[in-house]
Amino acid sequence: MLDSIRRDKLVRLCRDMICCPSPSGHEDRIVNLIRDTMISLGYNEVSIDRYGNVIGRIIFPTPGNRILFDGHMDHVDVSSPEEWTVPPFSGTIKDNRVYGRGASDMKGSLAAMILAAAYLREDYGHMLRGEIIVAGIVHEECFEGVASGEVGESYKPDYVVIGEASQLNLNVGQRGRAEIVVETQGKSAHSSNPEAGLNAVKKMVKIISAIEHQYMPPTHPFLGKGIIELTDIISSPYPGASVVPEKCKVTFDRRLLVGETEESVLGEIESVIARIAEDDPELKAAVKLAVGEAKCYTGELIQAKRFAPAWLIDRNHEFVRKSLDGLHEAGLKPKISKYDFCTNGSYYAGIAGIPTVGFGASREDLAHVTDEYIEIEQLEGACLGYYGIARSVLSV
Ligand SMILES: [Zn+2]
Repeated sequence: MLDSIRRDKLVRLCRDMICCPSPSGHEDRIVNLIRDTMISLGYNEVSIDRYGNVIGRIIFPTPGNRILFDGHMDHVDVSSPEEWTVPPFSGTIKDNRVYGRGASDMKGSLAAMILAAAYLREDYGHMLRGEIIVAGIVHEECFEGVASGEVGESYKPDYVVIGEASQLNLNVGQRGRAEIVVETQGKSAHSSNPEAGLNAVKKMVKIISAIEHQYMPPTHPFLGKGIIELTDIISSPYPGASVVPEKCKVTFDRRLLVGETEESVLGEIESVIARIAEDDPELKAAVKLAVGEAKCYTGELIQAKRFAPAWLIDRNHEFVRKSLDGLHEAGLKPKISKYDFCTNGSYYAGIAGIPTVGFGASREDLAHVTDEYIEIEQLEGACLGYYGIARSVLSV
């Protein structure tokens, strides 16, 4: 299906998207490019929602299932452009690769989705039913599943494909992620007379030590370990010149497994603290989820608790089987695998319970790096794969 004209168009779209820098909260230029591209490709409807997600629909005449392809448009910043051997927003082609920030994560796959849907209608529109939605999502890098939740709730897809890098394998799950904040409350005093106060940092040290030595997160045979890792600590007042600190706050990054909920995750940490408090009645500590907040380019505020659940779809599920059939039909040889990082699938599969798989071009470890690139062969494979999955799922 990918003749030379279609191949050239795919590479050009990927490069044009890289040439529109789109750090989280500044996706407007790439949104305009995607909207114009979808319109010129004959999408039936193209819209932009309040967060700035761009949603294109290809609707077949006979009603049927709705499959949604999700690709985020934002990327992490380029912190040291001088370390790049090519300009990071140039889309330079070298050694059969397209270079640039976002090439692997994940403008290449998003370009492949946009074109695959249009090519499929050109080739097989009369034999398909239902609908394909391709959604370009804002603010994924810090808010997995939040902006995509808006799209999911508006369009209620029957199936979802996450386009994050999977090296053209079919991913059936991922661990989730939570940011847990623990705060201890003490009493300030002059440090020349510490007995008059209660040192909140010393209380926190007990909690950190207990979590390190007495708390073991669960593990899952396929998804891996449910990690807990301390990521920051701050005392108050800070800096604390000659004063016993009255507050201390730490954040833990917790990788979640299927079935873990906000209540269960916070409850486990509360139990650890309750055990310490049995021997230390002065210990006062509170546990909660961190809350993130950021502006969208539309001016809308995006705000959410830092809790993105894990998900795992049964490999015998009809959607997995049909996706595999479609990928084989496209000439690919996918393995069943999983993501090691968190994706928008946390909303679709983890919260909304929609059958979801992950399939995308390139390697996970090419995301967020200096000299990020995507191999053109992978880019083409992704386009063939999305085409194959949609064809298999929507065939009459
Ligand atoms: Zn990504």
